[in-house]
Amino acid sequence: MPERPALVIGQHTLFDPSRAPAGQHTLYCYSHVPARYACSDADVAGLVEAQLERFAPGFADTVLARAIRNPQRTEAENPSLVDGDLGGGSYELDQQLLFRPAPELCRHRTPLPGLYVAGASVHPGGSVQGMGGRSAARALLADRRLRPWRA
Ligand SMILES: Cc1cc2nc3c(=O)[nH]c(=O)nc-3n(C[C@H](O)[C@H](O)[C@H](O)COP(=O)(O)OP(=O)(O)OC[C@H]3O[C@@H](n4cnc5c(N)ncnc54)[C@H](O)[C@@H]3O)c2cc1C
Repeated sequence: MPERPALVIGQHTLFDPSRAPAGQHTLYCYSHVPARYACSDADVAGLVEAQLERFAPGFADTVLARAIRNPQRTEAENPSLVDGDLGGGSYELDQQLLFRPAPELCRHRTPLPGLYVAGASVHPGGSVQGMGGRSAARALLADRRLRPWRA
């Protein structure tokens, strides 16, 4: 775990003040940790806040409350995020471009007629773009046109 981890930060209240009582703010921040890294909440939160403090001295004194998720808790809250992985699996070339998550499933069809897969662990991968769902729907409609008895 790096002493000075790279952070992804968002301050929602700059764009939506309704997310906090007047004059207060919400800050969202995450850092990547090494795979299967067993960490205590306090350990990583300390490193993250030290990084924020470097660029915003006095930040720690403005914190009213914290909600911390380590990888284990992230997975507990959403079983899709195995080991706290935000991306739903590897993004190595084979897994990203070609066979995500496996050659038999990368076109959203499954061996069971009428059952399709979509989501971050299927092509084209994670993020809030919805393309996986769109491609799965297109596969279903194509099957329905080609083989109406199967879909
Ligand atoms: C902290 C974080 C920050 C992110 N930041 C960004 C960002 O800035 N921009 C971006 O584009 N993407 C971001 N992403 C990625 C993006 O949110 C995901 O790739 C996307 O939500 C995946 O959609 P999905 O439908 O595959 O899965 P999810 O949105 O994870 O939905 C899966 C759902 O299935 C439920 N589930 C799982 N297992 C079971 C089960 N066994 N039975 C019943 N229900 C189950 C889960 O509870 C969950 O509600 C971020 C993800 C995280 C976690």
